Amino acid sequence: MNHKKELGIYLHIPFCVQKCNYCDFLSFPASETVREAYVEALRDEIAAFEEAGDYQAVSVFFGGGTPSVLRPEQISALLDSVRNRFEVRKHAEITMECNPGTDTDFPALKQTGINRISFGVQSADDSVLRMLGRIHTWADAEDSFQRARAAGFDNLSADLIFSLPGQTVQAWRRTLEAVLALHPEHISAYSLIIEEGTPFYSRYHAEDQRRADGEKTSLLPDEEEEREMYRLTGNLLAGSGYRQYEISNYARPGFESVHNNGYWIRREYAGFGLGASSQIRDQRYKNTADLKTYMKRQWEPCETQVITEKEAMSETMFLGMRRMDGVDRAMFRRTFGQEIDEAFPGVTDRLIRLGLIESENNHIRLTPKGIDLSNYVFSEYL
Ligand code: SF4
Repeated sequence: MNHKKELGIYLHIPFCVQKCNYCDFLSFPASETVREAYVEALRDEIAAFEEAGDYQAVSVFFGGGTPSVLRPEQISALLDSVRNRFEVRKHAEITMECNPGTDTDFPALKQTGINRISFGVQSADDSVLRMLGRIHTWADAEDSFQRARAAGFDNLSADLIFSLPGQTVQAWRRTLEAVLALHPEHISAYSLIIEEGTPFYSRYHAEDQRRADGEKTSLLPDEEEEREMYRLTGNLLAGSGYRQYEISNYARPGFESVHNNGYWIRREYAGFGLGASSQIRDQRYKNTADLKTYMKRQWEPCETQVITEKEAMSETMFLGMRRMDGVDRAMFRRTFGQEIDEAFPGVTDRLIRLGLIESENNHIRLTPKGIDLSNYVFSEYL
């Protein structure tokens, strides 16, 4: 039996062909020379990780940015570094985010050991893709799916965004139906968040505020339309054999993302690369977001947070309840040596009375009404 602790590994590739209009991720365009130098720095950072011997990696995730701007040899070199430093579980989930339109060599990528691809599809409507500032068309997404399948990838995910400016429920349905025709094993569907510092923020912030105040909106779908799109997503995907396993994630049986699940069950994770976050033991820390500093191999965390037991208990509740399986009372007791009701007196009973959560088979989970009001539910466990 392996007594090493399970770990998720995240590698941040901060490069994109161009910046999307809604994006506040740490990402930017860069030359081939910069990308090459960055891969070397990333390899050095992985090699310098001291506690690797305590862990067995159950998932590796190349996120971004757009990892598919790297050449397959660069992905392969990075995976070599991971395997040299860490014990990686046999059949570990190894995901790469990929944007249609980056002309990915899927057969070469398959050879690197990547076994799951998460495509940033976002919409099946070209005018929406243009408005979002995406570099690809819907035809590019279809082509990427077909080429990845032909190369032998049997675990593909599609990332989608809804509640977009001007989007109707019918238009969102058309995107969902088009994406279902590609038969992805996994679908993530998030509603748009208007993030500060993005072009969308200057365009839609005032409207977003009105929506938050419950006022009528014309540029963005209102709250009721957004909930309708959300419910439509669940119904349509359930009818096509997908199980909703988290508030915004759906999968065919057996294709729930190991890596994503890790965040919600508070599995430890090591993040490498510019601005990457890690959670090791009771500490969470974040790498520098300054490329020059990173390239100088100055990896001292720029932010460190010690997670207290009380915070860990809160996180266990509000992250765990994002999952449709909910929080296992016995797991909570084993982890913290006390019952959920002792740690949060009266909270669970009150939320059950309000119809926001339910307790079944020793698990606490959100009800459909609780999903609509999840922020309120989560705040009750803070
Ligand atoms: S491709 Fe992704 S990371 Fe890059 S700019 Fe667009 S949304 Fe941001």
